[in-house]
Amino acid sequence: MPRDPRHDILFEPIRIGPVVAKNRFYQVPHCNGMGHARPRSHAAMRGVKAEGGWAVVSTEEVEIHPSSDVSPYIEGRLWSDRDIPALALMTEAIHAHGALAAIEPVHAGMNAANLYSREVALAPSHIANPASYAPAQARAMTKADIRNFRRWHRDAALRARRAGFDIIYVYAAHSLSLPMHFLQSRHNHRTDEYGGSLENRVRLLRELIEDTKEAVGADCAVAVRFAVDEVRGEDGIRCTGEGREVVEMLAELPDLWDVNVSDWANDSKTSRFAPEGFQEDFVRFVKTVTTKPVVGVGRFTSPDTMVSQIRRGVLDLIGAARPSIADPFLPSKIDSGDIDDIRECIGCNVCVTGDHTMTPIRCTQNPTMGEEWRKGWHPETVPPRSGNDSFLIVGAGPTGLECARLLGRRGYAVAVAEASGQLGGRVTKEARLPGLAAWARVRDYRLHQLNKMGNVEIFRASHVTADLAMQFGAARIVLATGSTWRRDGVGRANTRPIPGFDREGAVFTPEDLMEGATPTGPVIVFDDDHYYLGAVLAEQLRAGGLAVMLVTPADRVSAWTVNTLEQHAIQRHLLELGIEVMTSRNVVDFDGARALLQCTYTERQFTAPAASIVTVTARLPNAELAHALLLAADGVARAGIVSVDSIGDCLAPSTIAAAVYAGHRYAREFDRPQHDAESFRRELPLESPG
Ligand code: ADP
Ligand code: SF4
Repeated sequence: MPRDPRHDILFEPIRIGPVVAKNRFYQVPHCNGMGHARPRSHAAMRGVKAEGGWAVVSTEEVEIHPSSDVSPYIEGRLWSDRDIPALALMTEAIHAHGALAAIEPVHAGMNAANLYSREVALAPSHIANPASYAPAQARAMTKADIRNFRRWHRDAALRARRAGFDIIYVYAAHSLSLPMHFLQSRHNHRTDEYGGSLENRVRLLRELIEDTKEAVGADCAVAVRFAVDEVRGEDGIRCTGEGREVVEMLAELPDLWDVNVSDWANDSKTSRFAPEGFQEDFVRFVKTVTTKPVVGVGRFTSPDTMVSQIRRGVLDLIGAARPSIADPFLPSKIDSGDIDDIRECIGCNVCVTGDHTMTPIRCTQNPTMGEEWRKGWHPETVPPRSGNDSFLIVGAGPTGLECARLLGRRGYAVAVAEASGQLGGRVTKEARLPGLAAWARVRDYRLHQLNKMGNVEIFRASHVTADLAMQFGAARIVLATGSTWRRDGVGRANTRPIPGFDREGAVFTPEDLMEGATPTGPVIVFDDDHYYLGAVLAEQLRAGGLAVMLVTPADRVSAWTVNTLEQHAIQRHLLELGIEVMTSRNVVDFDGARALLQCTYTERQFTAPAASIVTVTARLPNAELAHALLLAADGVARAGIVSVDSIGDCLAPSTIAAAVYAGHRYAREFDRPQHDAESFRRELPLESPG
């Protein structure tokens, strides 16, 4: 298809200082859990973005000195010349596709715990790291420290140029770097020329920009990443105050302004809490005070929204981290007019969890993310079929749909049978809950692809039994039958059924609610799952006017969502809705009028009024069909069926991301030799780079 002429503006080249971006698509820095520890994986992942049409592809934050060691988090590292070859792998992969490579050198200041280097952390003033409870403080920098830091930053810029980078950042965003800490009056209590007035607090940032331009400015563009607003009121930088003044003071100094809001949780808000383009009100002033190109973010996936940002003078370049993760080929799909094929980010922040758990990045929508090098997976190409096998996939949830999409792409004959009248499984049900509408993109992208394939048939309202599966005539049967929430309260805190949870009509599972059941209040949501669903259901019940208490054995609501940057927003939201939050409490009994709660520390017990309980604890695989086929092994063999495999939630319940991955993995790997030990390539420290 030809490109829509309305989108032509997105493909205009943009000059950034001494370099030219071939279009307006700019992959801003983002962490990935690979960094310095897994440089080949990292390079391959960035290379795929460049292949997909992004004009600029950036690193994550890159530590510049042992006193900026953010271990155990795995970011980039450029402490010395010895780090250059690993980063050069990345610039080579990016340049191979005609894109520019950008690097974000960072001194994390008080945010660097220096657990590996054991250096003392540095800060404008004596201060404890506000983001952790670690019993260590950063020391106030002397003038000599500031001179040293400037030298380290300059050296990093020179090394970055040698590594092949085209754009070199000065980073003052997310409250994660020294120049930003110096800007923040709450962290900078100095009385010398680096403290006090804004003119003084901005001095270090100005010097770093000047140093970098002087060192590498002839060849490399110098970008500033600056958080114009910290979204914390008068205590922080605001786009109507000092945020604007900083841009005015330094307006023409850098070659590019990359502007956003701070901290990371505000910058990378999930779709549950912010729509596409949500940063516009904060950053739109920037282009009115500088002539330099401006890049900004906002989970942009719609080309029309992108065009609007440019036409209305908000941004010059469309910045993206998550949209480039969910679809590395987003620019080239817009270029070729295939916008319906864009795999839109759902805004779930599963990608962020890689950084928090120090493991390679993963993505709900794009199961190849993080697997480019270690499994050789590509987001757009798949190996052709290796035989004439036909497939029956049972279940059209995220596992079944992704499996069908990929087997179909490989050229196999595929039938998908779904018991219910609707496709999408849990995704379709959950997308109807408050704040989760974007989840439906997981289904919609896949259905759109499947509808284009002549070799994939989808049967709705088709409950598959063992007999039907054997009669169907497919060579391989893939069970993607999902899972069901438990009703008995068994989960992490309770390994045996909770007394009273067998009461008819008073205990509800998430599926009951998603299918329209209406508990009477007061209702207790017992969340021993600790991800998003418990809090979302509490919100839905509250919206229905019930008195709701959320009880969790964890010390905070939705505890695991710390890893998706949402925990604070979720707990705040529940409290604002008037939901009573009871943390560190287990539910140990229920009599239909009251629940008995027990403190997880002292075992002290309390009663709480409860006419109904919603139990969000654990799920059981829907394994009936798998068991029946196992029992009918002889019949299965006689029917010529060569394999029966359970994948996704029906094997072991997990995230939607894991379900999509399971479907994808099966379709790629069912015909490959299976290895007992390692199913992917591993990066070993003692291998020579290359
Ligand atoms: P996953 O996350 O693994 O994809 P889901 O629970 O989202 O799991 O989806 C599983 C789907 O399988 C549901 O839509 C369910 O209706 C369907 N299903 C379960 N058992 C059968 C069966 N025996 N025949 C056909 N479809 C089934
Ligand atoms: Fe978007 Fe979720 Fe993928 Fe991250 S994991 S890129 S938020 S779909």
